[in-house]
Amino acid sequence: MAAIEIVQGDITSLEVDAIVNAANRTLLGGGGVDGAIHRAAGPELLEACRSLNGCRTGEAKITPGFRLSARYVIHTVGPVWHGGDRQEEQLLAACYRNSLELAERHGLTSIAFPGISTGVYGFPVARACPIAIGEARGFLERTEMISRIVFCCFSGADLDVYRKNLAAEQ
Ligand code: ADP
Repeated sequence: MAAIEIVQGDITSLEVDAIVNAANRTLLGGGGVDGAIHRAAGPELLEACRSLNGCRTGEAKITPGFRLSARYVIHTVGPVWHGGDRQEEQLLAACYRNSLELAERHGLTSIAFPGISTGVYGFPVARACPIAIGEARGFLERTEMISRIVFCCFSGADLDVYRKNLAAEQ
C-alpha cells in the first residue's frame, strides 16, 4: 500500500531512492537544506549541478546522490513568498508534482521532501503543507510506481503542522 510518512530530522540521513532539494535557480548551492545536501553528498554534487544550467521556479532536475544514502537528488526551485498573489501556491504545487513525475520517470519508488520554500523563501508552512500533502495524495492516486512519500520536517513546529493536516484528512 502506498504511504505518506512524516518524520522529523535531517533529510540527508534518510534512506530513500531520492531526496528533494529546495534549491535556488542557479543550482549551484546555497544555505539551508541546499547547503546541508551539498555538504553530505560531497563536491561531486556541485560538479553534476554545473552541467544542468540552472532550473526555473516550479521545475525539477535530477542528479546522482553521490555520498548520500539516497541514490538521487531531485533539485526543485520553490517560489519566493510575496504575499500569495504571485502564483506562489501554483508554483509550489508544480515543484511537488514535477519532482514526483521525475522520480517516476526514473523508476524510483520512494522519495523524501523538505518543506520547499518554507525557510528563507518565506512561504508560510500552514499554507505550504496542505499543498504538499494534496499533491502527494493526488499523485499516489494516479500512479503505482511510487510507494513511499516522506515529508521530512526540520522543526517540531513544522512536524505538528504536518501531523494536524494529515489527521484532518481522516
Ligand atoms: P527555501 O529557500 O526553499 O525556503 P530553506 O533551505 O531555507 O529553503 O528551507 C526549506 C526547509 O528546509 C525549511 O523548513 C528548513 O527548516 C528545512 N531544512 C533546513 N535544513 C534541513 C535539513 N538538513 N533537513 C531537512 N530540512 C531542512
